[in-house]
Parts: sequence; C-alpha cells; structure tokens
Amino acid sequence: MEAMTKEALFEILGSLRKANFAGGGRSPYKPLLLLWILGQLKKNGATEFSYADLEQDVSHLIDEFSPTSANRYRVEMPFFHLENDLWQISGSEKLEPKRSVLRRANAVGRLQPGVEKLLLSEPGLIEAVARFIVDTHFTDSYLEPIFDVIGLDVEFGGVPGVVISIDQKKRDPKFRDAVLIAWRKQCAMCGYDGEMFNTSVAIEAAHVKWFSQGGPDELDNGLALCSLHHKLFDRGVLGIGQEFKIVVADGFIGKSPAADQFVYELQDKSIRDPAPNKPMPSLDFLEWHIKQVFQKKNIA
Ligand SMILES: [Zn+2]
Repeated sequence: MEAMTKEALFEILGSLRKANFAGGGRSPYKPLLLLWILGQLKKNGATEFSYADLEQDVSHLIDEFSPTSANRYRVEMPFFHLENDLWQISGSEKLEPKRSVLRRANAVGRLQPGVEKLLLSEPGLIEAVARFIVDTHFTDSYLEPIFDVIGLDVEFGGVPGVVISIDQKKRDPKFRDAVLIAWRKQCAMCGYDGEMFNTSVAIEAAHVKWFSQGGPDELDNGLALCSLHHKLFDRGVLGIGQEFKIVVADGFIGKSPAADQFVYELQDKSIRDPAPNKPMPSLDFLEWHIKQVFQKKNIA
C-alpha cells in the first residue's frame, strides 16, 4: 500500500466537505464518525472496531451534535459509506448499510493502515485533522464541546508544516465589525451591549448560515449576538422562525431563574431591529438554520 501524505489526507478530507453541498443540506455523520475514531486513535493507538462496539458511542455523538430531525440513519450509513481511501470494512457475509446486517456479519472497520500510520507519525497531527474536520463541517461553537466528548485537547495541535491547501474561501476580516455596527453593538436577542474601553465585549458576529456550509460574509447572513445567545443559536437551542420570532428547542432544559430569563422568556419575542437601512437576516438563511441546525424534537 502506498504511503499516505499529509497533503493527500487533507485533500480527501476536503472532498468530504464538498460532497455535502450537493443537496444543500448538512451531513454531519461521516465527520462525526471520523472524529470519534480520531479520539480512539489518540487514546488507544489503534482504530479497529466492530460495528457493535462503536454504534452506541457514535450514536450519542450524532445525537449531541447534529439536528435530531435528520438522525434516522444513525451510524450504519457513515460506517458503511465512509470513503475507502480512509476506511476499510470487512465481515463474515456481504455487508449492507443496515444495522441488522452489520451486526450479524460482525462487521469490523478500521482506518486504512497508511492513514493510521501517518496520523501516529507526528505529535499534534490527530488534533490538527480533527480541528480541520470541525472547521469544515461545523462552526466555532462546536470545537470545544466535540473535542471534550471525543477526548482530544483543544490546546494541543497545530502542526508546523501542515499546509491545508483546499480551496477554502477566506473569511472577510471586516465581517465582525460590519455586523456589530449594523446591530448597534447589541445582542439581537437580548439587547446586551457591554463595552470596555470603547470596545464591545462578549458580543459576537454570528453567521446564520454557517461559513463552513457556504454561508457568505454578508450583512444579511449576520447577527450580532452576545456570547451566550451565539452559542445557543449555533447549537440549535435557539432559532428564528416566522416574523423573526425566536423559538426555543423543546429539548432544552434549564431549571434556574437565569435559564428563564436568558432562554425561555425569549420564546416568541421578535429579534431586535438592526440600525436604519441595515438588512434583517435573509429568510433563506434563517430557513437553512431552522432546517439544518435548530433542534426540532426532543431526544427520547
Ligand atoms: Zn444575548
């Protein structure tokens, strides 16, 4: 087997992202399976797992980090369909992307030996690859929580000499300031407007449609949100529905007065108006967020 290079690996990982755009929706399953495998590789130095062994853990990861409405295919699809350049599967009978078949055949998957060897060859490379996967399929709010669950350290990684050469669009450095000004330097949900030394503090420019999913750095795709509401919006706890009214996901539970004040009381309130002549978020981007990010149903 040919040795895998870093450049080739990042190229394959980059093409996972492009496959996502075809239907306009997100498909976080393969990235989440890969992230789980990377955590295991870090922990155990090996990546061979039977389907039965990994199903429950990966299923939890999918529940936590992808929209619940889309979770019908669970783990069998990415286990079966993950690219052959990265992953090999074998079993005692012909495999199909069905839970029952994968279990009966005692299906086993592992990273291609060349990929495994490469990832173990350099300290920090596992983390750099995991970070790349989060960057290309999610948004910043997911990095720490995902790394926590899979057992990687966000402080670690960033390998000198790794050139990530996929055609990733550059972020517009002016986006943040333009969005904050358009929203009068206030959270569009709660109105928080803290400043220190004339600079906004804990107010952030959120993308409605994620940058990683093709959302542009344009004002009609931006919202100024305080740090808490930014995170809750990115994680699908809060959405913006009809007539720009805020919706709270059924699955959210908070028992404190603070949860009432900062979350439940927002239900059905309209977001605030932007400054004169600045656009509201586009309905297309809001709809993308409701469909692809907002957690519509309670997880049983
Ligand atoms: Zn807020």
